Amino acid sequence: MEQHAIPVGDVHVERCLPGRPHAGRVLAAIQAHADDIPLYCAGTVAKLIDEGYTAYLIQTTNDEKCGPTHSSGDTILRNEREVEELGRALGFSDVFFLGYRNHLMDEASPIELRLRFIFLFRALKVDTVFTFNPWGHGEENPDHWMTAQAVEAACWMAGMNKDYPEHRAGGITPHGVRDKYYWVVRPGQPYNRVVDISPYIEKRIDALRVNTTQGPAGSGGSRLRARLAQQGLRLPALGDDDETADREYIRLFCSTAARQLGQEYGLDYAEPFLYVPPGGSVYGFAGSDEIERYIAGHAVPIR
Ligand SMILES: [Zn+2]
Repeated sequence: MEQHAIPVGDVHVERCLPGRPHAGRVLAAIQAHADDIPLYCAGTVAKLIDEGYTAYLIQTTNDEKCGPTHSSGDTILRNEREVEELGRALGFSDVFFLGYRNHLMDEASPIELRLRFIFLFRALKVDTVFTFNPWGHGEENPDHWMTAQAVEAACWMAGMNKDYPEHRAGGITPHGVRDKYYWVVRPGQPYNRVVDISPYIEKRIDALRVNTTQGPAGSGGSRLRARLAQQGLRLPALGDDDETADREYIRLFCSTAARQLGQEYGLDYAEPFLYVPPGGSVYGFAGSDEIERYIAGHAVPIR
């Protein structure tokens, strides 16, 4: 995994939990493009939904640049339908499309983008977010960094009562995001958390399978099967039908990093994240618990 991601500090392995310990909690997975969630966090999102989280999918761009035909309109529609299908495949409760132009997000107003996230985090009462690392080394796609930086700022600003107080008129009150999972995209980006997705590898394959318009993954198996058939060849590992071919192609060729990372930590499959726990500044004030402990240990009668 060293070619993809850099472990930092004590890497925590997040294991699968019995029951629904996260019931009542809400997560939002925020992607710029139809293939981001399938590639970077599908297994973990499936795990957390299974463990009780309610989940929402937010997509920032219209994906107009990535598709097999010359038509931008056709490309947008294909991707939009596939993201809806991705939402159903992983168990998201709703999907929100923000509709910014693909590859051009750096022309968007960062303030408007941030405000839209603040509105959604408050309205949906989001506790946990998944997105790109806003300061990730090597990130070359403006859609990724624009999305991530707006999300990061919106997470804490959504909890402030003087930011956009007019939301109260619609019954929407301040609600800050508690913790963040920044997924790993580029070589050299850091991770401090490895999530065991072994029981959810089929869900990850489901997520990649629906993404046929812009990834090589979705229908790669059936296309390879057809190409080999023209040469009078077949790969036994791809099975005897297109559906099996697509799934097994993803398992063989689009799961290598998840498999390698898993093996490093004694798991079958894993996804890496830079996890940002609740808390503000490192050099902030002591919490009320610490103050009360100090009082209990040091307070003396006035007389
Ligand atoms: Zn992307």
